[in-house]
Amino acid sequence: MALSHSRVTRYDFCPRAYRYYYLEGWRPVAKKPALLFGDAIDRGLTALFQRGADPVAVFEAGWQALKDAGVEWGKRHTWDTLLEIGKGVLTRFVAEERPRFSNVAPEHVQRSLSAQVDGVSFVGYPDLYGEVDGLRTLVDFKTAQSAYDAEEVQLNEQLTAYWWLLEANGIPVDRVAFCVLLKLKEPKIAWSFANRTPQDIAEYREKLALVAGDIASGRFPKKTSSCGLWSGCDYRPLCLGNETAIRTQLVLTEEMSDEEIVV
Ligand code: SF4
Repeated sequence: MALSHSRVTRYDFCPRAYRYYYLEGWRPVAKKPALLFGDAIDRGLTALFQRGADPVAVFEAGWQALKDAGVEWGKRHTWDTLLEIGKGVLTRFVAEERPRFSNVAPEHVQRSLSAQVDGVSFVGYPDLYGEVDGLRTLVDFKTAQSAYDAEEVQLNEQLTAYWWLLEANGIPVDRVAFCVLLKLKEPKIAWSFANRTPQDIAEYREKLALVAGDIASGRFPKKTSSCGLWSGCDYRPLCLGNETAIRTQLVLTEEMSDEEIVV
């Protein structure tokens, strides 16, 4: 079995949702604008750091391809407003943030890292590892409406996982960070830096072993306190046995193209 931060997060959200997503292969039909935007921004930044490409041009090309993709855009965040926000925030990133980076090797951008815990493989794809303001930093890029809360960053398990993966692979690190590109009319970028202790890593590894054991034992109970979280669980039609909603809102990955499948 292989685990990842995404898998553990989904299992935490609801074990039954994990089963629907990873074991049975169900996906929502509707594409979420926030995820599409984050993905398009990521592609721009990856192109910038891997091959020195213009991230604004890469973002714009990817965004144009979504114009007629049947996405339900929001009232405030339409396709057009997100296009302008994306171009604006990436332009600002190039002007103000890019100069803070140094010694970013292309192979350290979206690099696959893995480590073992109790015979289970844990894999991660941190966005970038290099120097920021002269310190060895692992950076994960995010898009959000507002800057992250400092306490949440301190507790964030994705950063704990990445710190551990770097250590386990003998890669020295001074700090981990979220670099958040804010979806505002006035482009803005907010940084959150953090460190992790050996105790943080030990507790996370312990949790991974527990989650892996539960998955291997086939424990996928419903966690109904999660049904209404975020914008509401996509898998409610399955739990409710609503056949009409299943047919209109969900699709099996075997009926999707490879590009559409998110793991
Ligand atoms: S609807 Fe509720 S119980 Fe069912 S998978 Fe979603 S969160 Fe879990």
